[in-house]
Amino acid sequence: MKRYDLRINGEWVKPSSNEWFDTYDPYTGEPWANIPLGTSQDVDRAVLAAHTAFTEGAWPAKSPSERGLLLHKVGDLIASNAKRLAEIEVRDNGKLFAEMYGQLTYLPQWFYYYGGLADKIQGATLPLDKKGYFSYTRHEPLGVVAALTPWNSPLLLASWKIAPALAAGCTVVLKPSEFTSASTLEFAELFEQAGFPPGVVNVVTGFGKDVGAALSSHPLVRKISFTGSDTTGRVINQQAASQLKHMSLELGGKSPNIVFDDADLDQAAQGAISGIFSATGQTCIAGSRLLVQDSIYDVFVSKLIAIARTVKLGNPMSLDTQIGPVTTPPQYRKVLDYIDIAIKEGAQLLLGGKAAARAECGKGWFVEPTIFGEVNNAMRIAQEEVFGPVLSIIRFKDEDDALDIANDVRFGLAAGVWTQDIARGMRMSERLKAGTVWINTYRVLSYISPFGGYKESGLGRENGIDAVREYLQTKTVWINT
Ligand code: NAD
Repeated sequence: MKRYDLRINGEWVKPSSNEWFDTYDPYTGEPWANIPLGTSQDVDRAVLAAHTAFTEGAWPAKSPSERGLLLHKVGDLIASNAKRLAEIEVRDNGKLFAEMYGQLTYLPQWFYYYGGLADKIQGATLPLDKKGYFSYTRHEPLGVVAALTPWNSPLLLASWKIAPALAAGCTVVLKPSEFTSASTLEFAELFEQAGFPPGVVNVVTGFGKDVGAALSSHPLVRKISFTGSDTTGRVINQQAASQLKHMSLELGGKSPNIVFDDADLDQAAQGAISGIFSATGQTCIAGSRLLVQDSIYDVFVSKLIAIARTVKLGNPMSLDTQIGPVTTPPQYRKVLDYIDIAIKEGAQLLLGGKAAARAECGKGWFVEPTIFGEVNNAMRIAQEEVFGPVLSIIRFKDEDDALDIANDVRFGLAAGVWTQDIARGMRMSERLKAGTVWINTYRVLSYISPFGGYKESGLGRENGIDAVREYLQTKTVWINT
């Protein structure tokens, strides 16, 4: 079995615990690699390495264009390692190879984009109202960034943080999820291969309550960039508040996908299916609340069920598989618990509703694609993030009713609208309380488009030009002329 070490200061180092834990393949249910059990001592080593690389000039002292060039080189290395990294991610999180390979071949774009931005971070000369002075601003890096990531898309979500942080001139300590650490450890090595100075990117693995907590509360960390559940986000935010650290939070969602009676129903049905079942429903943007207009409810639900019945579960490495396993045993139990809760709440079970016992699912943690109809928006299944292949369908009467239901939830990450009336689509997009609104599509993302949550789905934005600002602070300089 492959055994990894920690990646600190440009070297592979053993964890100070001298212990490792197993990481599992969700398709076979078997362990396949050993991950180092990091401790607060290892966090300290990694943060000191990042702090030294930051304060002694190894990274911020490089010219912005040199930093940009190194980011480009990492992008090239990701491209040439895409297949290998995608296979590791599939092994660890059970997502489809086709999806992970697609993600990995697109990932270099984040490094090219932010590499290109590194030498475009400009201050301003200020049009002062005071005679005898000249004043200008500089945008300076915050310092050491703690990047904490979840298990559902380890390298994509790590890159959303690392690429803008490095472009800004920060250094990074990355803590991947304990369930999917292998790809992040492999990824870390690419930075030194590209020519980064040691200590600029470090990875410490281990459990959230130990290593994660030690990292996010480390006094030398100036910025926390966290993606994960809102429960953990709140804990980290409270800790960070006491130390006045800068904070970005990308949290959960319970996104409405709204189908009007004037939509192209076939297109909308495909969008609703991929909106919820992609990545086995384990995406923050899953369109887990499907709002369907009364007048088309029956016909649309029949279309949906007909498609969902044909979905193929199985080995995530096979190119014809459409739904893979749930990534972790606790998540598998959580999804099945929510199905029980929905049945007890009186939701109408239309499809699935149990663990999948199909031969092609092997010993993996599979749940049948599950659809509930006649869901009331007050039910827990409509309000809480399941993070699995479970869809709740809710009826609505008209535009106002759809908006009331869609916005009546504490999350606000994303929303979809299906209509052929573009004016209605635009009206809806203005009134939906969500960080991303898709019209006649769902789930499309780009390094160019800002991404983040309204309400309790998060703080700050990733992707796009402004993401670099999340890692900068502004200094104003006054000169007496
Ligand atoms: P999680 O909150 O359990 O863990 C996320 C990370 O935080 C892990 O690395 C974990 O080890 C660490 N952690 C846990 N407890 C900690 C603590 N006390 N202090 C510091 N770190 C700690 O989330 P998860 O189960 O891995 O991921 C699923 C969640 O992530 C879902 O809620 C999903 O919606 C969310 N998510 C959000 C986005 C987004 O961009 N908004 C993207 C993907 C996933």
